[in-house]
Amino acid sequence: MRLGEIIGHDAQVRLLMRLVKRDQLPHAIIFEGVPGSGRRTVALALAQALLCQRPVAGDACGQCDACRLMISNTHPDCTVLPHDRELADIPIDLVREQVADQAYISPLIGTRRIFILPDIERLKLDAANTILKVLEEPPSGTFLLMTTAAAAGLLSTIRSRAQLYRLNPLAPEAIAAILMNRGMLPAEALQRAVSVHGGLRGIDETQVAAPLDELEALCRSGLQLDVIALIMSQLPQRVADDAGKTLASEQRTVLASWLDQLLQRLRQALRQETMDSVDETCEIIDRVLRLQGDLQRHVNPQVIIEGLALVAR
Ligand SMILES: [Zn+2]
Repeated sequence: MRLGEIIGHDAQVRLLMRLVKRDQLPHAIIFEGVPGSGRRTVALALAQALLCQRPVAGDACGQCDACRLMISNTHPDCTVLPHDRELADIPIDLVREQVADQAYISPLIGTRRIFILPDIERLKLDAANTILKVLEEPPSGTFLLMTTAAAAGLLSTIRSRAQLYRLNPLAPEAIAAILMNRGMLPAEALQRAVSVHGGLRGIDETQVAAPLDELEALCRSGLQLDVIALIMSQLPQRVADDAGKTLASEQRTVLASWLDQLLQRLRQALRQETMDSVDETCEIIDRVLRLQGDLQRHVNPQVIIEGLALVAR
């Protein structure tokens, strides 16, 4: 897909095209956003723009040999690591073989090498340090395009060496447009779009919509066991046998997306609140941010949900 074909992230896409055109794109980028908001799609389109042999205004032409290889996922100078639904963690061996070693080898076709690393919150410390070495001295023409649900949970050394681009959750109209492009009828597309809270992943995986009312109630009214039980029951209760991940990691992925949506809602509420309630909402936002960090450190999902109800430690 070309950058210009992306639906829903107009401002970021325009900025990326301008940077590509001027050859000013940073060597390391982190796209942050809720799962399904199109982080990987943007990274892939950006890779195509960078590798295209006849770029037009910072975007790929869609027709040259490089573009054709990108469209068929076979460009030898673009390495895409497995996403979180394919692999629960990113093992160090994979990072060494596919990124660290490859980054110093000349590109096969053009002058650039692109590495796409989805969901880098899955990097354990040793694997993250291997990436860090590449980030510290990126070989010329090498670009690392990374995605994450929450940059706050990443190693600060990685965060500080990459430019962060925040992709907002997709608006319902954007989701509906994408679904209609995929052949869904307008009425159904609109109906599905309002139920998935900013990401397409909910539709692709028939994931339950986030129980945002319940999560917010916990934050504002304190510990209520029945509400906690209700929220827990909406987390995934089993994983597909071939998914290659544990139930806890599946639950953490879903919970991470819920917390992200909860933050969006709280920040929106903040704009409409009176001074009296602003302090409380700010404190709750801090609390949710802290719990997002805990979640990245593999704290048990139930402990996180209970933590929503507990005022600052
Ligand atoms: Zn092209």
